[in-house]
Amino acid sequence: MNFQSNRIGQIPPYLFAEINKKKEELKKAGVDIIDLGIGDPDLPTPKHIIDKLIKESQDPRNLKYPSFSGYSEFKQAVADFYWRQYQVKLDPDTEVLALIGSKEGIAHIVPTLIDPGDYVLVPDPSYPVYRMAALLANGQYYNMPMTKETDFKPDFQAIPAEILSQSKLMFLNYPGNPTSATVDIGFFLEAVEFSRKHHIPIAHDSAYNMVTFDGYKAPSILEVEGAKDIAVEFGSLSKTYNMTGFRIGYVVGNKNIIKALSVYKSNTDTGQLTPVQKAAAFALNSDQSCIAKHNGIYKERMKVMLEGLKIIGVEVSPPKGSFFIWAPVPGGYTSAGFVSSVMEQTGVILTPGNAFGPSGEGYFRASLSVPNERLYEAVNRIKEKLKIVIT
Ligand SMILES: *Cc1c(COP(=O)(O)O)cnc(C)c1O
Repeated sequence: MNFQSNRIGQIPPYLFAEINKKKEELKKAGVDIIDLGIGDPDLPTPKHIIDKLIKESQDPRNLKYPSFSGYSEFKQAVADFYWRQYQVKLDPDTEVLALIGSKEGIAHIVPTLIDPGDYVLVPDPSYPVYRMAALLANGQYYNMPMTKETDFKPDFQAIPAEILSQSKLMFLNYPGNPTSATVDIGFFLEAVEFSRKHHIPIAHDSAYNMVTFDGYKAPSILEVEGAKDIAVEFGSLSKTYNMTGFRIGYVVGNKNIIKALSVYKSNTDTGQLTPVQKAAAFALNSDQSCIAKHNGIYKERMKVMLEGLKIIGVEVSPPKGSFFIWAPVPGGYTSAGFVSSVMEQTGVILTPGNAFGPSGEGYFRASLSVPNERLYEAVNRIKEKLKIVIT
């Protein structure tokens, strides 16, 4: 017997679950795996943040139910960050909501804003949660294709009118996962104008807002005048401070959307553990030099990887944001064909581009989440062992 709803039945296996299964098989066979597949930073959480978590965990008052909308100092710290980083003013009570990781909010904003049958506009390729949340809400998604020709930005004008009239939400994500594409404020201006015209709220996912290189500063969509009328922005401490396991993020921007999401959440969860929220506030309020340090490490790794890829005929220009390399597969392979050849012949795990949507076909994603020496090793193996197939 198969106990599951039709909704669950239509969800394809979680991308990384599939890859992990293959990885375990190879491991069992004694292969030394180098995993460039998953986007979880290997760098440790800075010590001052862990110390704060431990300290706050020892106060029994902090171990009771947290408040629904989030610990006020955390929300204030997020508002202060927005002022410092973007000169955007936020009211911590009404324009900031704490999340149990941004993924939680991304998943829950969909049923908060759409009714069964409605459309969600999603970048293609993109983080799979946007699409799956639409299906779990008995909605539909429309893939906005993004290609090299459009600098991995969606062409809003190409969305059919009948889709637009049924759309209740649009996701955007810059610096982008998996494309590592970045934008300037001009793009957000265009997006906000478009969404106002069609009355479609925007949810901008800024998970990589602080993972940037070469002096590039990622803008917030809320820097656009009037963006708060139509947009919210998701943020996370996961990638900025290597806090993926803490499960702490936030959503900021449009009051009504945030209020509606908090109604959904207050009937679903009861917020994140207070010491985690306090440690997150502390992370945002403390010395930020760890960010530049982490980015320096990613930049170095990126150089190693890009040089290695060049040798096998894959040329990509250095990304200005995120810790991903998004590159065309060489030698007439499909995404899946290339990734499984590399995995089988070298033990290096990459992610096939089409796992992020149909427009990702012909690409692969490499995460820079392993130390330099392992990256050198990965590059060397690809250079030496894969030469045979790439002719
Ligand atoms: C990692 C990631 C997230 C989720 O971050 P959490 O705050 O850890 O849930 C959201 N969006 C994108 C694009 C990501 O890569």
